[in-house]
Amino acid sequence: MTKTLHLGQTLSFTGDPFIEGPAAATHSSRGAVLVEGGRVSATGEADALRAAHPEAIVEDHGDGLILPGFVDAHMHYPQTAMIASWGKRLIDWLNSYTFPEEGKFADRAYADEIAGRTLDLALAHGTTTLTSFCTIHPSSVDAFFEAAQARGMAGFAGKTCMDRNAPDYLSDTSQSAYDDSKALLERWHGKGRATYVITPRFSPTSTPEQLEALGALWAESPSCLMQTHLSEQVDEIEWVKSLYPQARDYLDTYEAHGLLGERGLYGHAIHLEPREADRLRETGAGLVHCPTSNTFIGSGLFDMAARVAEGQRIGLASDTGGGSSFSMLRVMGAAYEIGQLKRNPIHPAQLLWLATEGSAKVLHAEGEIGRLAPGAMADMIVLDLASTPGIAQRSAVASDIWEALFPTIMMGDDRAIAATYVAGRRMKG
Ligand SMILES: [Zn+2]
Repeated sequence: MTKTLHLGQTLSFTGDPFIEGPAAATHSSRGAVLVEGGRVSATGEADALRAAHPEAIVEDHGDGLILPGFVDAHMHYPQTAMIASWGKRLIDWLNSYTFPEEGKFADRAYADEIAGRTLDLALAHGTTTLTSFCTIHPSSVDAFFEAAQARGMAGFAGKTCMDRNAPDYLSDTSQSAYDDSKALLERWHGKGRATYVITPRFSPTSTPEQLEALGALWAESPSCLMQTHLSEQVDEIEWVKSLYPQARDYLDTYEAHGLLGERGLYGHAIHLEPREADRLRETGAGLVHCPTSNTFIGSGLFDMAARVAEGQRIGLASDTGGGSSFSMLRVMGAAYEIGQLKRNPIHPAQLLWLATEGSAKVLHAEGEIGRLAPGAMADMIVLDLASTPGIAQRSAVASDIWEALFPTIMMGDDRAIAATYVAGRRMKG
């Protein structure tokens, strides 16, 4: 089997930087990653691994920083073509921009085009795994998984379900949502690198009957994930309470219908009530922070310090097209900015961990993606820490790896991604 030895700077986590601080990461200024059969087989110092594997093909990335590819834990591939749409808050943004665009996915050829475009944009920006909402059309799920499979990428996705408060052309029923989701998960879940995610959009666009049907499907298929939205905007929360008068809070609309669990992903989770925070922690559910979306749509400031102190499981995501960037670097930068507004400066080690291992953990895929360690898939990137003159002049005077990395987190974009690999195969650079 061909062995490829990648040389460069390396940075890898041996612990959780929210618990141990930056000491949770190990940096090597001349490290190496050995790849065999699409997986990482060894990591270490360059000289030692070269001596141990003289037959390996060497790819020398110089001063480039070799990292696991970014893992985006929540986004909407059907919204790629409408990213950066102006001037609306959540409900009006959905009605004005999102629903008409998602309606176009009745056309399978359009779905194929946008799925391919989205995955290629992701790879160009160093994101090797996407977790996506699709549209109500089952073929939009096939389009996503087929495009991911063609690129060798891990994919997490599901058919978005809506049976009220959506246009007729984007509405299913509780029965068709159940039947279509079941057929799709039987077709895709566990096939290659595909993981099916049961996907009610959010409580306002599902009847209690539809949530109940999807909760029943999740109980029958517990290895699937479940994704939805939770407590994004204050007026959305009021709407949920009026639609579900018997619910204790927003989370209860999911909990009461079997849609709260440790394999559940709850996008945003900004304005949580104490009971909601308690129940999310008790169940080990995944909270997905979407900072570029939260500022773009004007949703609010996620309280990272409080959620970390509670011991919540947290991932990071672009939420495109509500999020305004395809770059997880920009997403990390926005997480930092929101932290600053909450008087909580998030360390670059923590930002990087959230975009890789943190997201992998909410997807229950840690050890497989989001980490460069023996046994993990060789989904990896090479980061140029001097990709623009403005970044280069700052990183040139850095005194350690974190100070060298932080300008790229705050100012970097796809130009900082010198190379992207999926299962050891070069996809960029
Ligand atoms: Zn979303």
